[in-house]
Amino acid sequence: MDATIDQDFVIDRLSHYEMVVPEKSLAPRSLQVRAYKELYAYDEMYKLLQKAATYWDNFFIYTQVTAEQPSLDKWEFIPYTRDSYAWTQQISVLWAVIQGASVQSPEQRKTTLEDYQGRISQISSPQKLSGTDAFCKPEVIERQRVISGKTVEVLFNYAPMGEEHFLIVPKEHRTDFRELQEGEFVEALHWADKIVTHYVHQGFTCYLYHKTGAIAGQTVPHWHLHVVIVKPEKDLKEKLHVAWRMLVGARPLPPAELSEHVHKLQLELQDLSK
Ligand SMILES: [Zn+2]
Repeated sequence: MDATIDQDFVIDRLSHYEMVVPEKSLAPRSLQVRAYKELYAYDEMYKLLQKAATYWDNFFIYTQVTAEQPSLDKWEFIPYTRDSYAWTQQISVLWAVIQGASVQSPEQRKTTLEDYQGRISQISSPQKLSGTDAFCKPEVIERQRVISGKTVEVLFNYAPMGEEHFLIVPKEHRTDFRELQEGEFVEALHWADKIVTHYVHQGFTCYLYHKTGAIAGQTVPHWHLHVVIVKPEKDLKEKLHVAWRMLVGARPLPPAELSEHVHKLQLELQDLSK
């Protein structure tokens, strides 16, 4: 893609990151937040994703990390609309994840750009200071914790969808991305980066995503970043298997197996805390 043509589709730009209507996208009206200078500036990524979040109340934020594309500096923001069934949207996005994004024509991108330029930001819901969800329960955190950060916990998902499956959650209750604080997001990305680097070097592929809103498939009302580690899928059957687990969930591990696995990961990843 010619960089100068791409400039026409920029919605907002900070000193290192920009928000654009991408050439390739997973769904209509998707946005992309990406670095245009080689530097990690997760605070800027947070600001741009939060801006995108003011336009919608249900969305899915996604990236894929592989040995060829080993960094977290490009994310897709996929809105979910109320005008069609949530399931059909989820299946359509998952299909695009496994089959690859589709190319948008300049005309389609221009329509999306104009749509955003004409939009008015929504006022987000007031913050709740505490919750009764799983990630507000100390016993759940205790059972699944692999790494404890300053403002976030890195947990192992009790029903892993891939070879490994981590959940990064803020220690404080935040219902969804709109309530998440900048420092918590930056720290979550810091740990996600260390984890994906660890696995990408071993040849794994990592899917990272978080959901806001029931229509987008958010089930636990406490923000969590999924980090799913999978073997590079070679054929469609394997890809569909991963997609199916991402969509409908996976089998929970028995308590003894969970405890053993969490302990193994604590040892394997202890150097990441240094
Ligand atoms: Zn909570």
